[in-house]
Amino acid sequence: MKKFLQLISILMAIALVIAFVPAAPFSSMADETAPAPDRADVRLGWIDENQGPGVARWVDENGNISKQPGKAKAESQSNSTQETQEEKAGESSQGSGTSQSATGESGQAETQAETQPETQPATQPETQPAETGRQIDPALPMVALTFDDGPYAPVGNQIMDSLAQYGGKATFFVVGSRAAAYQTELKRMVAEGHEIGNHTFDHKYLTKLNGAQIQSEINRCNDAVFAASGVRPALVRLPGGLKNHTVLANVNAPIIMWSIDTLDWKTRNTSKTVNAVLSHVKDGDIVLMHELYSQTGAAALEIIPKLAAAGYQMVTVSEMAQYRGGVVPSGVYSQFHR
Ligand SMILES: [Zn+2]
Repeated sequence: MKKFLQLISILMAIALVIAFVPAAPFSSMADETAPAPDRADVRLGWIDENQGPGVARWVDENGNISKQPGKAKAESQSNSTQETQEEKAGESSQGSGTSQSATGESGQAETQAETQPETQPATQPETQPAETGRQIDPALPMVALTFDDGPYAPVGNQIMDSLAQYGGKATFFVVGSRAAAYQTELKRMVAEGHEIGNHTFDHKYLTKLNGAQIQSEINRCNDAVFAASGVRPALVRLPGGLKNHTVLANVNAPIIMWSIDTLDWKTRNTSKTVNAVLSHVKDGDIVLMHELYSQTGAAALEIIPKLAAAGYQMVTVSEMAQYRGGVVPSGVYSQFHR
């Protein structure tokens, strides 16, 4: 009997809990918004969650995430994570890539030129920048500012505004899949004498692809840029800087690396990006930056006037190559020092 009474009191307690407690949490849940993850605050902007260059994702006004504006499609997190690791591997391999190109570029280039005679001749001469009254003094120092992963008009136009003010030109290595969305920006690049380079069609790591796939990545980017701007890129920058024998054998255009890595995509810090350039720059350098980030745009607005004041001519990669020994298909170039 005692146990029966205990059971009754327990059941009554449970009944009370069921009757009253739920009212509280349900009403409070209705009133409060659950704390949102940081990226849920982004609308009409880029997020990349520090995944490295080339893997930024666009968030539209509804919070849909995609590779570029207008193509909302959720992308799998595992894929992104994989890319992060690969990009980091690519970044850390830059040093060796640079020294490789510095020590062996001409021999490598000749080998490639012999073994790959006429597979893809279309990328060469018609792509030289239009030279209308452009004065470059080969005796004076020059530097090539390069911006990868665009086009992205909000930053690209800022960079071009500043370059116009100081008579400078830059090279924009663009991702082909983004070209159609930024025709106006690409046409401005051409009209103002900047160079558009090829950064593959959708920023795939070419070391993971076979020869036909590599050629497709390059050719589709060239076609997309040509369709959007009327100009076909002459130069290629490899996503992550990643290359191997198959890549070198199938990219039938000069491959442009860099001698100053600002790590702008990683720091997202304007003054660090500015210092990375100004504390190291010398005649013949190729500077790596990324067009997607507002901090990079802000950095460019500081870098460009200071380079001009220091006597640097800001030239495109093709312009610099023209005065410093030239380039050949499949050659790898990280600088054009004297
Ligand atoms: Zn990239």
